[in-house]
Amino acid sequence: MLPVYFIPDEGAMEEFGARLLSAMEHTGVIFLQGNLGMGKTTLSRGLIRSAGHKGAVKSPTYTLVETYELPAGIVHHFDLYRLMDPEELEYLGIRDYFSEQHLCLVEWPDRGDGLLPAPDLEVYIEPHGEGRAIQCVSHTAKGQKAADIIND
Ligand code: ADP
Ligand code: MG
Repeated sequence: MLPVYFIPDEGAMEEFGARLLSAMEHTGVIFLQGNLGMGKTTLSRGLIRSAGHKGAVKSPTYTLVETYELPAGIVHHFDLYRLMDPEELEYLGIRDYFSEQHLCLVEWPDRGDGLLPAPDLEVYIEPHGEGRAIQCVSHTAKGQKAADIIND
């Protein structure tokens, strides 16, 4: 059974993002799975701020991706909700983003099916009372290591 983390509010969601960044050692690919309003952008904001970003973190809904070059490394935050055709990712030059030295966070990864690399970790977010429940599914040794650290 996968561990379930109960995340009572927005602040705890941001903290979970910060934990993810350090568990992943600032690199790799994380898919964020969950419906509209589940807190994917909130978790991303927590991760990006803990990497050293001071300003706002907006949802890259129209631009598809926002890149942050930070003291703790480079973070690419994708939101593929409005992606009509995975081929659009080719025009973005998608491969250059998924460098091993960067961290990629992807909201709505299923929209890019077939053109995104496999994630190290998939984070599933569901409603739980007033808050949220999170489960992490790892797909690589790196993702498994991160999941173990988070579970510690
Ligand atoms: P998404 O990107 O998945 O559409 P957002 O991050 O924009 O979702 O968050 C939607 C709303 O959910 C925001 O108002 C945010 O404050 C709230 N929220 C985020 N995480 C939690 C949580 N763990 N518990 C309760 N509310 C949360
Ligand atoms: Mg969002």
